[in-house]
Amino acid sequence: MKFGTAGIPFNAKDTLDGIRKVKEMGLDAMELEFVYGVNLKEEKAIEAKKVSRKEKITLTAHAPYFINLNSNEKAKLEASKNRIFKAAKVAHLAGAIGVVFHPGFYMKEDKEKVYLKIKENLKEILQKMKRNDIDIMLRPEVMGKQTQFGTVEELLKLSSELDNVMPCIDFAHWHARTKKYNSYDEFSEVLSLVEKHLGKNGLKKMHMHVSGINYGDKGEKNHLNLKESDFNYKELLKALADFKADGIIINESPNNGMVGGDAQLLKKEWKKLALM
Ligand SMILES: [Zn+2]
Repeated sequence: MKFGTAGIPFNAKDTLDGIRKVKEMGLDAMELEFVYGVNLKEEKAIEAKKVSRKEKITLTAHAPYFINLNSNEKAKLEASKNRIFKAAKVAHLAGAIGVVFHPGFYMKEDKEKVYLKIKENLKEILQKMKRNDIDIMLRPEVMGKQTQFGTVEELLKLSSELDNVMPCIDFAHWHARTKKYNSYDEFSEVLSLVEKHLGKNGLKKMHMHVSGINYGDKGEKNHLNLKESDFNYKELLKALADFKADGIIINESPNNGMVGGDAQLLKKEWKKLALM
């Protein structure tokens, strides 16, 4: 299992320095945060690939937040598709293995219809990526608010129906959205579903977000540090170990890029399990 930060560590100057700092922190991965726009120039992305290979740091990316693949406005829909495409293009140049994105909103529409529309739009993006030789996994994320498309079931179905799509399971979001899924048995239930839809390969190539979270009636409010939240990360790690799950855990806690922050805490806890 690889552990990494969302974005560059606090004391890093830029992406390249970030990769080196992540290495110094004893971590294994870093998620390039394109959340307010794809801000990494193509030349820099190519350099990032070289540095990450040298330092043996796995890169992933997070596409811009402003995406709604269920928009009824043509301009917004096109812009959404272009943002995912551009994130995938630059992330691929950087040697990243996956691009996480927030798929869209239900807009009070029928959920089945929304599913089909998002699937069609995703297909178009995948086809454009293929034409441009952009070989990278698209990772729609489990979302934390009930108005957002992206339940575990929806994303597993999408992933089983489309090539080059696998979910980003954000366990904090899922807990905030459902007010459940915060115990060993409930985490095991999610992992059984992954296996049911995607097989052992699904369990071996997981991309997860694990952080503390604050939530209310409508779901997610904001991320918290693990120890200041109610999230049972130890039970999650135990369930992952028992399912022999593998892949990447990216931490999005406010302290994730700090020395002694949650990205390191999760890795430390995981190592303890391996010794048991
Ligand atoms: Zn996200």
